[in-house]
Amino acid sequence: MTMSMRELAMVVRIVFGTLLVGSAALVAWLRPRLAPVLFLELALYGLFVSIVMRCPRCGTIIYKRRSTIAEVEVTFWGGVGLPRHCVKCGLDFAKTTRFGEPLE
Ligand SMILES: [Zn+2]
Repeated sequence: MTMSMRELAMVVRIVFGTLLVGSAALVAWLRPRLAPVLFLELALYGLFVSIVMRCPRCGTIIYKRRSTIAEVEVTFWGGVGLPRHCVKCGLDFAKTTRFGEPLE
Protein backbone atom coordinates (compact mmCIF):
# COMPACT_ATOMS: atom_id res chain seq x y z
CA MET A 1 0.00 0.00 0.00
CA THR A 2 1.39 3.36 -0.97
CA MET A 3 0.56 6.39 1.05
CA SER A 4 0.80 9.92 -0.14
CA MET A 5 2.85 12.40 1.83
CA ARG A 6 -0.37 13.99 3.00
CA GLU A 7 -1.83 10.69 4.24
CA LEU A 8 1.40 9.96 6.04
CA ALA A 9 1.20 13.33 7.79
CA MET A 10 -2.34 12.44 8.85
CA VAL A 11 -1.32 9.01 10.20
CA VAL A 12 1.61 10.51 12.10
CA ARG A 13 -0.72 13.08 13.61
CA ILE A 14 -3.26 10.45 14.67
CA VAL A 15 -0.60 8.19 16.19
CA PHE A 16 1.06 10.97 18.17
CA GLY A 17 -2.31 12.50 19.06
CA THR A 18 -3.56 9.20 20.48
CA LEU A 19 -0.30 8.67 22.34
CA LEU A 20 -0.42 12.16 23.80
CA VAL A 21 -4.08 11.99 24.83
CA GLY A 22 -3.58 8.52 26.26
CA SER A 23 -0.58 9.45 28.35
CA ALA A 24 -2.19 12.74 29.39
CA ALA A 25 -5.11 10.75 30.80
CA LEU A 26 -2.72 8.38 32.50
CA VAL A 27 -0.73 11.24 34.01
CA ALA A 28 -3.87 13.05 35.15
CA TRP A 29 -5.45 10.07 36.86
CA LEU A 30 -2.61 7.88 38.00
CA ARG A 31 0.81 9.45 37.95
CA PRO A 32 0.85 13.26 38.21
CA ARG A 33 4.61 13.14 38.70
CA LEU A 34 5.05 11.85 35.16
CA ALA A 35 3.82 15.11 33.62
CA PRO A 36 7.23 15.86 32.04
CA VAL A 37 6.68 12.81 29.84
CA LEU A 38 4.07 14.83 27.94
CA PHE A 39 6.64 17.48 27.06
CA LEU A 40 8.99 14.74 26.01
CA GLU A 41 6.36 13.34 23.66
CA LEU A 42 5.71 16.77 22.17
CA ALA A 43 9.45 17.25 21.67
CA LEU A 44 9.61 13.83 20.04
CA TYR A 45 6.80 14.77 17.69
CA GLY A 46 8.61 17.98 16.78
CA LEU A 47 11.79 16.06 16.15
CA PHE A 48 9.99 13.46 14.06
CA VAL A 49 8.31 16.13 11.97
CA SER A 50 11.53 18.03 11.39
CA ILE A 51 13.38 14.90 10.30
CA VAL A 52 10.79 12.84 8.43
CA MET A 53 8.03 15.18 7.31
CA ARG A 54 9.95 16.97 4.62
CA CYS A 55 9.22 17.68 1.00
CA PRO A 56 10.74 14.80 -0.99
CA ARG A 57 11.81 17.14 -3.74
CA CYS A 58 13.42 20.07 -1.95
CA GLY A 59 13.66 19.09 1.72
CA THR A 60 11.47 21.85 3.12
CA ILE A 61 9.51 20.80 6.20
CA ILE A 62 5.93 20.32 5.06
CA TYR A 63 4.44 22.37 7.89
CA LYS A 64 6.33 25.42 6.81
CA ARG A 65 3.91 28.05 5.58
CA ARG A 66 4.27 31.35 3.91
CA SER A 67 1.81 34.15 3.80
CA THR A 68 1.72 37.82 3.23
CA ILE A 69 0.63 40.14 6.02
CA ALA A 70 0.49 43.85 5.18
CA GLU A 71 2.72 43.29 2.16
CA VAL A 72 5.39 41.67 4.27
CA GLU A 73 6.04 38.05 3.52
CA VAL A 74 6.35 35.92 6.60
CA THR A 75 7.29 32.30 7.01
CA PHE A 76 5.83 30.42 9.92
CA TRP A 77 5.30 26.94 11.25
CA GLY A 78 2.28 24.87 11.97
CA GLY A 79 -1.32 25.53 11.15
CA VAL A 80 -4.26 23.32 11.89
CA GLY A 81 -4.86 21.81 8.49
CA LEU A 82 -2.61 19.38 6.72
CA PRO A 83 -0.43 21.04 4.13
CA ARG A 84 -1.28 20.29 0.54
CA HIS A 85 1.57 21.86 -1.37
CA CYS A 86 5.20 22.47 -0.64
CA VAL A 87 5.72 26.11 0.24
CA LYS A 88 8.99 26.22 -1.67
CA CYS A 89 8.67 24.12 -4.81
CA GLY A 90 4.90 23.65 -4.97
CA LEU A 91 4.98 19.85 -4.94
CA ASP A 92 1.52 18.35 -4.41
CA PHE A 93 1.74 16.23 -1.25
CA ALA A 94 -1.54 14.49 -1.97
CA LYS A 95 -0.12 13.10 -5.21
CA THR A 96 3.38 12.25 -4.10
CA THR A 97 4.78 9.58 -1.81
CA ARG A 98 7.29 10.24 0.90
CA PHE A 99 10.02 9.19 -1.52
CA GLY A 100 8.96 11.61 -4.21
CA GLU A 101 7.22 9.05 -6.41
CA PRO A 102 4.05 10.22 -8.11
CA LEU A 103 0.75 8.59 -7.14
CA GLU A 104 -2.03 7.84 -9.56
ZN1 LIG B 1 9.37 21.21 -2.01
